[in-house]
Amino acid sequence: MNNANPMLGIFGGTFDPIHYGHLRCALHVQQRCQLEQVRLMPCHLPAHRASPGVSARQRADMVRLAIADYPQLALEPLELQQHRPSYSAVSLAQLAVKYPKHQLVFILGMDAFNHFTHWHRWQQILQLADLIVCQRPEHLTLSTESQALLLQRQVQQAADLKLAGKGRILLLDNPLQAISATELRQSLPALTACPDWLPPAVWNYIRQHKLYS
Ligand code: ATP
Repeated sequence: MNNANPMLGIFGGTFDPIHYGHLRCALHVQQRCQLEQVRLMPCHLPAHRASPGVSARQRADMVRLAIADYPQLALEPLELQQHRPSYSAVSLAQLAVKYPKHQLVFILGMDAFNHFTHWHRWQQILQLADLIVCQRPEHLTLSTESQALLLQRQVQQAADLKLAGKGRILLLDNPLQAISATELRQSLPALTACPDWLPPAVWNYIRQHKLYS
């Protein structure tokens, strides 16, 4: 039986800063899996690190600038409005209430998926949403836990997500983008022109606000 509800992609992250790895991944997933929209959800407080000098608001501003030309992408401000560490299970439960007419699909990269079973209440995430895992160069090897999860829950094609149910996992063969925010932050202080990894509007914002210097 098909699920009649439109699919809404939720792409969580630090986006510190947003880069073409995120953007192309979101666009690819939206089109390939026929999601009504992909909502990029910057976390308020990264659970595992802080970025000195770059506020949550500035990270959200950069997301807004990066997606401005793409009506199929939107900023999801939910976690920005919270004053506590962000947990995807908690956020997805709130999003299920906020978007009751949608089937939620949580998007994450392979590096994040490899740690998924260590996330706070990860089982609850699978009760609330399907997962779409994007491949990422240098993170192509699956951890033992993620292999076990895939054995139980993997679906082979995007169309399978349209069937009624939740907690399925689609491992996408997306075009690989060797781009990382960590490397970007390290190289930004020395750059004098917009690098290939960044949308020009994000580069201009970084320069204007003297971020990552
Ligand atoms: P950092 O290098 O600081 O960890 P990041 O580039 O991984 O940052 P995040 O904001 O932490 O960026 O990532 C948000 C989500 O986007 C994660 O699920 C991550 O796996 C995914 N992601 C980030 N970069 C890529 C990429 N180049 N290709 C595919 N997925 C990516």
